[in-house]
Amino acid sequence: MAKKRDEFTAWMHRTKSNKENAVWDKPKITIIKGDITKVKADAIVNAANSGLLGGSGVDWAIRQAAGLGLQQECQLLREEVYPKGLPVGKAVSTGAYKLNAKIIIHTVGPRYYKDNPELLRECYIRSIMLAEENSCESIAFPAISTGAYGFPIEKSAKIVKELFDNFKSEVIQEIILVLWSDEDLRVYKREIEE
Ligand code: ADP
Repeated sequence: MAKKRDEFTAWMHRTKSNKENAVWDKPKITIIKGDITKVKADAIVNAANSGLLGGSGVDWAIRQAAGLGLQQECQLLREEVYPKGLPVGKAVSTGAYKLNAKIIIHTVGPRYYKDNPELLRECYIRSIMLAEENSCESIAFPAISTGAYGFPIEKSAKIVKELFDNFKSEVIQEIILVLWSDEDLRVYKREIEE
């Protein structure tokens, strides 16, 4: 696990490529309260479950808003690519269908009392990787794992802060952190902005 973490940390702190005219900058971090299905961003991240066939919370909201096409694409992904389910910490992208976005990135967060909590970092990093691969300039995250999967919001905020504090990208210009409650918003603002 330590090796894996190093690999991702190295990726987050990678150095500028030699591409001509590449702008390498720290993305703007925006923290808001709201419904992620109403947020305009090139990539919307879904706190999915391993089965990819629907769940509660943010997963339910995204499926309702995106429509049947998303359900069908997820079904195909499950049958053809992930017959055993998408592993915890991994991420996969689909079309956005009726959402105001280019793609939806589905990632499976760790269950706080069952899985390795370190895997939460991997969810964020793999989502960022997919957003870059798909030329997304903005990405919106819910607070992955902090609902049904029981991850404490304060711990999630600390991980997110540590991850994005020194992160630079040639592609992503804005990272939008979308919180569902006033209390979660307060904790994120305190931990990340102060
Ligand atoms: P997980 O199973 O990963 O814990 P949940 O969907 O249960 O995922 O919860 C993740 C976070 O998303 C929680 O903080 C929850 O309050 C929040 N949430 C639920 N619905 C929405 C929504 N429509 N937009 C943004 N955040 C949401």
